[in-house]
Amino acid sequence: MRLRLLATGALAIASLASAAPVLAPPAELGPDVQPFVHLPSGRTAITHLRIIDGTGAAPMEDATLLLDGPKITGVQAASAAVPAGYRVIDGTGETAMPGIVGMHNHLYYLQRPNLDAAGHFEQPIIIPQMTFSAPRLYLANGVTTMRTTGSVEPYTDLSLKREIDAGHLVGPHLDVTSPYLEGPGAFFIQNHQIASPNDARKEVAFWADMGVNSFKAYMHLTRAELGAAIDEAHKHHLKLTGHLCSVTYPEAVALGIDNLEHGFFVNTQLDPGKKPDQCSDGTGTPTLLKMTPGSPEANALIKLLVDHHVAITSTLPVFAQSVPMHEPLQARQMDVLSPEAKEAYLYSRNLVASRAGTTRGNEFTQAYKNDLGLERQFVAAGGLLMAGPDPTGNGGVIPGFGDQREIELLVEAGFSPVEAIRIATLNGATYLALADRIGSIAPGKDADLFIVKGNPAANINDIENVIIVFKDGVAYDSAKLLKSVRGRFGEY
Ligand SMILES: [Zn+2]
Repeated sequence: MRLRLLATGALAIASLASAAPVLAPPAELGPDVQPFVHLPSGRTAITHLRIIDGTGAAPMEDATLLLDGPKITGVQAASAAVPAGYRVIDGTGETAMPGIVGMHNHLYYLQRPNLDAAGHFEQPIIIPQMTFSAPRLYLANGVTTMRTTGSVEPYTDLSLKREIDAGHLVGPHLDVTSPYLEGPGAFFIQNHQIASPNDARKEVAFWADMGVNSFKAYMHLTRAELGAAIDEAHKHHLKLTGHLCSVTYPEAVALGIDNLEHGFFVNTQLDPGKKPDQCSDGTGTPTLLKMTPGSPEANALIKLLVDHHVAITSTLPVFAQSVPMHEPLQARQMDVLSPEAKEAYLYSRNLVASRAGTTRGNEFTQAYKNDLGLERQFVAAGGLLMAGPDPTGNGGVIPGFGDQREIELLVEAGFSPVEAIRIATLNGATYLALADRIGSIAPGKDADLFIVKGNPAANINDIENVIIVFKDGVAYDSAKLLKSVRGRFGEY
């Protein structure tokens, strides 16, 4: 026993040495990145710009933003003199926002083999990696930092991070999450099946040692397994989030979880027939239908979450897919899908549309509405709400485009545009303990931000009009990145 403890201690020390930081020091950019660079890092002044700083404050109008290498060096009125040595770019009619910190942003697609128009498919569900298209889609759409929030090929994701950080591949800063920590009954086949609390501990210790930045628990763990995983992750000074089902939100809070995924959609505490340590048939929808915003159950849960500093990740785009007559993809979004992903998206869209007016359709629409109210109530109570699209399922949720859609849906939920932007930027940075570097626009912070045409503070859909994205002060050309992945998402 003593030897085992010593061995665990040694692992912890090794992992601290091997985990690469989420924000690596900027590297020289290689030949595969250079074609997407609009402007290298240097001294740049963008004048007559509107700045939404990410804190939730009202935008600053007619400002000058000063960038020097990888840092923001100044935010000043456009009437003030630009210091010597800065190249000047006119930003009239444009808005700068902090780079999106995507907190539920996968690097894969999800294949349902032999999917047909009726929604039938064969097992096993398998998950091809989008290691080529996803990083480009994220960066092109303003995501400069993202958490993978459940990895299927963790070696691939860790290698991708290493190659991006080294300047060999183009993409955002990555927080690489562990493989899904999952027991028997997994949704897809590509993960280890945890069989005991000790097994959970071993898997967490192994991936901490391999250099992951965070952990993700999934739907079929026992309380003892989840508790062991949380404890082991914390021993390695790493955080753990979960898309839960077998463990309810209050149980997970008691076990010390740091973050819960999918808003209030997957809390099973009031699901009929819920047995301890087992996922319920309703996977949380019955609980959400009962837990109307402001109800005693909702108030108690939100107080518990806020008191224990448990963050919540809002992933509205993936749930909006199940609301009949949700907004269709735009042509520019359809353009990046592979033919197979387009077909899967259209099949799913037709199926969900056919549920309009049915009990199932109405119930889901009501559950979605309850979630929006609970997310607002959570923020009003002081909870840390973060954002991510969860690009899974059919082609309806796409990396990057989905991050913008999440912000738009937060505004539809009742947040003001600048509040919604804060949720998708500074709040994620705060959770990652990186708010001194990223998540808002201020002198001394990293030059991770993007420029859009228009005014998202007045019309949130203007966040779609991305022109350039700065990461570590290097300006990337959004249109060129998008062009490079036409027809590829769903393929590789
Ligand atoms: Zn997910």
